[in-house]
Amino acid sequence: MTLLDITDLKVTYSTKNGKVHAVNDVSFSIGEGVNYGLAGESGSGKSTIAEALLGLLPDNGQIESGEVLFKGQDLTTLSPSERRDILWEDIAYIPQSAMDALDPVMSTGAQIRQAIQKHRNVSKAKARERVRELYDIVGLDPNRIDDYPHEFSGGMRQRVTIAMALALEPDLIIADEPTTGLDVIVQDKIVDKILEIQERMDSSLLLITHEIGVIAETCDDLSILYGGKVMEQGSVDNVLINPTNPYTMGLKNSFPEIEDGGDPVSIPGSPPNLSQEPSACVFKDRCPFSTAECEQSHPDLVDLPNRNHQSACHHVKKAAQMRRDAKEPET
Ligand code: ATP
Ligand code: MG
Repeated sequence: MTLLDITDLKVTYSTKNGKVHAVNDVSFSIGEGVNYGLAGESGSGKSTIAEALLGLLPDNGQIESGEVLFKGQDLTTLSPSERRDILWEDIAYIPQSAMDALDPVMSTGAQIRQAIQKHRNVSKAKARERVRELYDIVGLDPNRIDDYPHEFSGGMRQRVTIAMALALEPDLIIADEPTTGLDVIVQDKIVDKILEIQERMDSSLLLITHEIGVIAETCDDLSILYGGKVMEQGSVDNVLINPTNPYTMGLKNSFPEIEDGGDPVSIPGSPPNLSQEPSACVFKDRCPFSTAECEQSHPDLVDLPNRNHQSACHHVKKAAQMRRDAKEPET
């Protein structure tokens, strides 16, 4: 069954210099028990999608159009309080830089206990017991529930935020860059922990990260975003093993760990101008395949012959051929 179904989502921010078209016609859906990755470089609209679907956009942000169905219910039409209830009961959100957002003057355990007591009719002692359990689940010492945020390392604070998000056993966990800013070993541990918990709770995961290596390891499906547009999406095997979009290929090259070796190469050029809705391919200025056609319209996201694979590129065939050529070098 589909848990989350986003259709043609458009989000803008109003600024003194006009509108920023941060998310343009994004559609994807997440089934029950599925791990879904949202990838793309900084500014591609990842966090905006999460905030829009949760009703947490800042005051200058607005959903222009589109539908966000969670278990069949359109979240965009709910009142803030109805949305908050769903948020806590069904969807857990680990925001970007969550570990820095903990209240510095309250013990970490008390912050989680309060969240539990706000939503469940349980005694303080019972809620504290639950916090101890959660610390154990996320790999923190349950005897440290009275410690303050500053007494923990970055990785441990991130575990606290995960414990907080899990307190009410959500159906969907949305984690925005949960490993960014942590060292590599801690990153691996946090990812493993999220997966272990998510499997145990049988929940779905929306994992937002610019590190596609992490998505390759952990997710079933993904969308690759650029300039607020989905450039390629589908199963991880299709999209990351056999990419057909020049942007995905460029991203992949900048993450050598999912290739066999090779130096990381970042894609030259700067991100697109978001002051207007895209009238040309958003990637055209940085794309090696760009032609006059790419100036004329942004390509539609079209189904490719293999199941569960879509790409938006006027030159899908050329790009796929080049990938095949690169795989089988002439001798
Ligand atoms: P990162 O990887 O850096 O977290 P992201 O993919 O999450 O990036 P978003 O934060 O969603 O990207 O931003 C998408 C676009 O919207 C960017 O161009 C950003 O500058 C712009 N934007 C985000 N928040 C605001 C805001 N409050 N006001 C105006 N523009 C904003
Ligand atoms: Mg972000």
